Amino acid sequence: MEQNSRRDFLKTAGVATAAAAASGLVIGCSQEKTEAPKPQAPAVQPKKTIEWKMVTTWPPHFPILGEGADKLAELINVMSDGRLKVQVYGGGELVPPLEAFDAVSQGTAQMGHGAAYYWAGKAPAAQFFAAVPFGLNAQGMNAWLYSGGGMALWEETYAKFNLIPMPAGNTGVQMGGWFNREIKSIEDFKGLKMRIPGLGGKVLAKAGGTAILSAGGEIYTNLERGVIDATEWVGPYNDYKMGFYKVAKYYYYPGWHEPGTVLESFVNKDAFAALPKDLQEVVRTATIAANMWMLCESEAKNNFYLNKMVTEEGVQLKKFPDDVVVALRQYSKEVLEETVANDPLSKKVYESFLAFQKNALAWSKISEEAYYSLFG
Ligand code: CA
Repeated sequence: MEQNSRRDFLKTAGVATAAAAASGLVIGCSQEKTEAPKPQAPAVQPKKTIEWKMVTTWPPHFPILGEGADKLAELINVMSDGRLKVQVYGGGELVPPLEAFDAVSQGTAQMGHGAAYYWAGKAPAAQFFAAVPFGLNAQGMNAWLYSGGGMALWEETYAKFNLIPMPAGNTGVQMGGWFNREIKSIEDFKGLKMRIPGLGGKVLAKAGGTAILSAGGEIYTNLERGVIDATEWVGPYNDYKMGFYKVAKYYYYPGWHEPGTVLESFVNKDAFAALPKDLQEVVRTATIAANMWMLCESEAKNNFYLNKMVTEEGVQLKKFPDDVVVALRQYSKEVLEETVANDPLSKKVYESFLAFQKNALAWSKISEEAYYSLFG
């Protein structure tokens, strides 16, 4: 708006100057009336529009996650006053969802939106920038990434793919998942077929379960038909939209496996370098705003949908027993140590993560934890 007003003003000023020149009026205080000033060129150059494609791992306009990608594109379009136009493609519209990373790496698209744990097969260290079982929550992840050295490590991890990563959203603490049998001891995970991706899936395997990979669109049917016994997804708002309450009875918390999952955008390095400096800053700042937006959406909506499912749909809310959590935490530690054992970059990232978490936990004892304990 301000830019438009400024442009209008400049345009008007330009016209006034030209009119003054044409009429022979002298502008300023010069006494020498030799010749009328020549009409000036318009002060504003015509806008040059740069067009980018954003490929995503989500179905088009998928609640919160896909909407976050839409939001990011909209922010860039508006903040750049239309000079950088980003067109969003849902998973499968331009390239399949899990080919988004390669598409941006190779320059087929200039920008992508997803979650870093999808790329664990290409770079094991990537998992630490999405979700770590018993790792940092949203506040901790943002603090580690933006102010604790995490971004430099993430950039190092993606550099060989010609990509620049940026945090672009966070789900907050996820739920533990949907089950059709109660989890009373760690033994109850034995033989359990659960849809749970990434490091969390490896932890389940250590507990004797089987981690099944299902694409988002297949989970509901697989749970209904008994192909899987349980699934995790995100949190109450997203899970309500997926309808899991219709096919599973128990809803467990907390999401020990994804305590603050980071969504990402990744930008092709050459495309970014080709932008003028102000548009580079627009991309970075819009992504920070989108990161904030997604966390706030999740935090604002989750409790409403949780209550709705419990009171209207008969969902039974259950907390994982303490001894189950202790066992899962031990298995998680083993999984993480095994993950970094053969990959120096993962080891470096894990060490930074652990050191940051140690300090974050110590500070939270006298800040967040102490504060929440005031409410009993
Ligand atoms: Ca999840």
